[in-house]
Amino acid sequence: MSDVRNVVIVGSGPAGYTAAIYAARAQLDPVIYEGSVTAGGALMNTTEVENFPGFTDGVMGPDLMDSMRKQAKRFGAELITDDIVEMDLTGDIKVLKDGSGNTVKAKSVILATGSAYREIGLANEKRLSGHGVSWCATCDGFFFRGQTIAVVGGGDSAVEEATFLTRFAEKVVLIHRRDSLRASKIMADRAKANPKIEFMWNTEVIDVLGADKVEALKLRSTVDGTESERAFTGLFVAIGHIPRSELIIGQIDLDNEGYVICEGRSTRTNQKGVFACGDLVDHTYRQAITAAGSGCAAALDAEKFLAHQVFPDLINTDKKRSTTMATSKVTTATFDAEVLKSSTPVLVDFWAEWCGPCRAVGPILEEISDEYGSKLKIVKLNTDEESAIAIKYGITSIPSMYVFVNGEVVTQIVGAKPKPALLKDLASFLAQSYVRFNRVGDPLISTSPWP
Ligand SMILES: Cc1cc2nc3c(=O)[nH]c(=O)nc-3n(C[C@H](O)[C@H](O)[C@H](O)COP(=O)(O)OP(=O)(O)OC[C@H]3O[C@@H](n4cnc5c(N)ncnc54)[C@H](O)[C@@H]3O)c2cc1C
Repeated sequence: MSDVRNVVIVGSGPAGYTAAIYAARAQLDPVIYEGSVTAGGALMNTTEVENFPGFTDGVMGPDLMDSMRKQAKRFGAELITDDIVEMDLTGDIKVLKDGSGNTVKAKSVILATGSAYREIGLANEKRLSGHGVSWCATCDGFFFRGQTIAVVGGGDSAVEEATFLTRFAEKVVLIHRRDSLRASKIMADRAKANPKIEFMWNTEVIDVLGADKVEALKLRSTVDGTESERAFTGLFVAIGHIPRSELIIGQIDLDNEGYVICEGRSTRTNQKGVFACGDLVDHTYRQAITAAGSGCAAALDAEKFLAHQVFPDLINTDKKRSTTMATSKVTTATFDAEVLKSSTPVLVDFWAEWCGPCRAVGPILEEISDEYGSKLKIVKLNTDEESAIAIKYGITSIPSMYVFVNGEVVTQIVGAKPKPALLKDLASFLAQSYVRFNRVGDPLISTSPWP
């Protein structure tokens, strides 16, 4: 069972990291494949992000992504700086292979691979890539100081790139196939007011000229087809994005542009246990905050799925485990004898089948019961089946773990916690022989009594 992860997240932009934060906080022990060289996603290629809520004065894109990464790590997400190169998402247990040849199995997968820059599709565009042709103004703008460069496109990205490039270039010519911009009005107005930006309407680039670096562009009018040449030393291509869905073609339903199709407002794909979020599913908004929001939704959808799903391939392992359960179940009929009249302290785990965090904490309680059963008895009370007792003890959130001594509640722990934190909360019941703490307060586990 341990070699099958609850959740594997593919992609590390705002969507992937947010999904990792939520899944880690839900104790799902997620692993996130960040990409071998592109960890952090699209915002790693931008400077100031002014519209991500919570940053009054804006934030640098890479700083924002670094914070998200650290936040995911803080909650225990495992981060792997590698690409996923193959996925089989069709079975109950998903199988993914990374760029180093390792295989990871998962009960659920969150796809957050974002989208890539679209190319014009000219042979010379590829040949002169890195020699004057670029898809990233923030990466390459610096090298075009005092020059005359072209930006192709008419949407937000093109206008943002053109505006940014005026910091370096002498002149930026925005070449667009239509006679007006698709960019938002505020961005378009800002660009139109910029004296360094010139607009070439109804024009398309049909070739990039130059032996070993860009020297000129061959242009064609979209109105009358006339062709012309104009000297430029740089070409920035900003004509949109292609969703990175190539690895899932044939397994996951995609629309005709390659975006993943999700069910209604959810992040559920056509494959059970596979969820998708961020720019990979989003034609319309494509913003960091909307990507982050959908990453959150994907983690919540995955958590709900895991709480309800039975995995036939793993059932034997589960059965084996259940026959050796260290905890026992209490009911209304047995509560008095098992809990209230017990001669040893009893931890009652108030839980329910549908509660993901309850299921995450269950195995930890099994382990604690295994290791410390003689000091602390651990029993489980299903709040759906025994609601009267749950109500009597004022349970409003599960998992709740109440410790009873001589019929009285002496400790209340609410919410799933990792094992060291639970051991710390329960230290006084497990004390004298088995738990010691280091200088920073983490428990040192020992199988031998105090010396
Ligand atoms: C230049 C630029 C400026 C922008 N400025 C802003 C802005 O100011 N404000 C704003 O809100 N939005 C901005 N955006 C848009 C915003 O960056 C995106 O909407 C957002 O990053 C999308 O997030 P995502 O998580 O869906 O995908 P991405 O950020 O694209 O991240 C996807 C990640 O998945 C990884 N990946 C892909 N395939 C694999 C694989 N097979 N294995 C492992 N990893 C994989 C990629 O390497 C990447 O790291 C800007 C975009 C650009 C390009």
